[in-house]
Amino acid sequence: MFDNRNYCGKLSSGDIGNEVLLAGWIDRKRDLGGIVFLELRDVTGIVQVVFDSSSIPEETQRAEKVRSEFCVMVKGSVVKRTEETVNPNLTTGDIEIKAEHLEVLAESEVPPFPIDSQDKLSEEIRLRYRFLDLRRAEMRDAVISRHRTMQVTRQFLSSHNFYEIETPMLNKSTPEGARDFLVPSRISRGMFYALPQSPQLFKQILMVSGFDRYFQIVKCFRDEDLRNDRQPEFTQVDLEMSFVSPDMVMREIEGLLVEMVGAIQGRDIPTPFPRITYDEAMSRYGKDAPDTRFGLELTDCTDIFGESGFKVFQSTLENGGIIKAMVVPDEGKISRKMIDDYIEYVKAYRAMGLPTVRYNNGNFETGISKFLSDDEKKTLSERLSLEGNVLVIFSCDRKQVVNDALGNLREHIAEQMKMVDGDAMNFIWVYDFPLLEYDHQDERYYAMHHPFTAPKPDDVEKLESLSPQNAEDIRAQAYDVVLNGMEIGGGSIRINKMEMQRKMFNILGISEEEARVKFSFLLEALQYGAPPHGGIALGLDRILMLLLKRESIREVIPFPKTQKGQCLMSNAPSPVAAQQLKDLSIKVVEP
Ligand code: ASP
Repeated sequence: MFDNRNYCGKLSSGDIGNEVLLAGWIDRKRDLGGIVFLELRDVTGIVQVVFDSSSIPEETQRAEKVRSEFCVMVKGSVVKRTEETVNPNLTTGDIEIKAEHLEVLAESEVPPFPIDSQDKLSEEIRLRYRFLDLRRAEMRDAVISRHRTMQVTRQFLSSHNFYEIETPMLNKSTPEGARDFLVPSRISRGMFYALPQSPQLFKQILMVSGFDRYFQIVKCFRDEDLRNDRQPEFTQVDLEMSFVSPDMVMREIEGLLVEMVGAIQGRDIPTPFPRITYDEAMSRYGKDAPDTRFGLELTDCTDIFGESGFKVFQSTLENGGIIKAMVVPDEGKISRKMIDDYIEYVKAYRAMGLPTVRYNNGNFETGISKFLSDDEKKTLSERLSLEGNVLVIFSCDRKQVVNDALGNLREHIAEQMKMVDGDAMNFIWVYDFPLLEYDHQDERYYAMHHPFTAPKPDDVEKLESLSPQNAEDIRAQAYDVVLNGMEIGGGSIRINKMEMQRKMFNILGISEEEARVKFSFLLEALQYGAPPHGGIALGLDRILMLLLKRESIREVIPFPKTQKGQCLMSNAPSPVAAQQLKDLSIKVVEP
């Protein structure tokens, strides 16, 4: 009976005169007494159907009784709307369906929220009734855009000689980084699998096996405390290549992102993307994922204040801290109250204050102006290219505090002063990340990316004289791709030599025994002619969120979890039957 079904949203004036069969849901009904208008919706859009009791009295009576979200089938013919009834808000607004037949396929309860609601709906209700939420145009668009993105990804990578290869979901637990999600084994009682945090080891193994270009659109699982842009399960576009340089990986990814943006936004973005080193990113923006849609760059002024008469600067320098400045053009509009708010804002980043000074066409005024010597003023004006009427905001503290405070304040002010071009898509590569970080509390080194990342060839020697002080000087062949201030992917060239991998484990405090237990198969594989290789993983959810300009990744995931890791629709996670636990030899200790 549904043979030759037409799609509501695809009808146009080209179909005028055609007989059509439509099936979908009632979006809205207007009953004018004798004439009933039904707006019929399917996955492609909405079309108006008209029932006229003067020609089809019984069908019209039935149409009077349907309600929103009933699932119906309609037969009729496509007619042109009269000039005054054309609806410019509908893509099908210049036509309508003159109904001949209506059949209710399934009735509907009154939905907990109107599907066409323009008001902001509570997220809890939306997630509880996700099956209805997904009927809303906004969510339908997100799901379809996601589909398209995955399709262009497959097309692009396949045509660039990548093989799509699946890696296992049930793995060996190798805690390093985030916490694993565990799956108990029934057959091997007392044993556990772990869900993959990423297919990292398997994709490297595939390189050793000779599949020289691999990709996968893959779910990854990390049992972390959830922040706003995190999900316990998320999707990566994961890839790995043999015989590559960082530059080759970057160029492939640029090509792929061009395709993605084209598919979603229908526009061309310029390549190559700008590239800056990690050091430069930290110095100019205070962050390793800089938002380059606006200026407000940071400038180091530590050397200017060696003889400063300002006590706060003096003691910063005595304690080995740094002084950085940000120039905010404001034409005198930033009030004392706003500055107080900024000071309050940076407290979250452990900054104790923000000395300021106003520069007004050659004169330094207010704030710390009385502490500035003529020399300092001169050097400051030159270094910061001061002109017009601007506010100079300083931060002085340990390097990390200064970067955190000004890096975040920079984004806050840009937002507040509407300096961010909402349409811009600023992609940027950040490369030459440090290989290691030293954690003073844990008194050990951590891999900044992961333990399989290769150092830069020029820096390998420095590993011999590694110390907590020079740890960050050793650079890795690692790179991140950033969009509008958000990291959307990261990767590296890997270690392909056994000795180097051993050395790396050693530095990271992973004993030979531990390495053997956790990574034996990788270590073994590295002994059989492992090719030079590298790769990257892109966060599909984040990319979609940014390309569709949504507020959270939950808006682009069909069935997301809440911040507490719950699915409000299915009620996962949930207790399991006693027998299931018994089969697994598991006893739950009440928390
Ligand atoms: N596996 C890494 C990650 O998930 C990405 C990579 O190095 O390719 O972050």
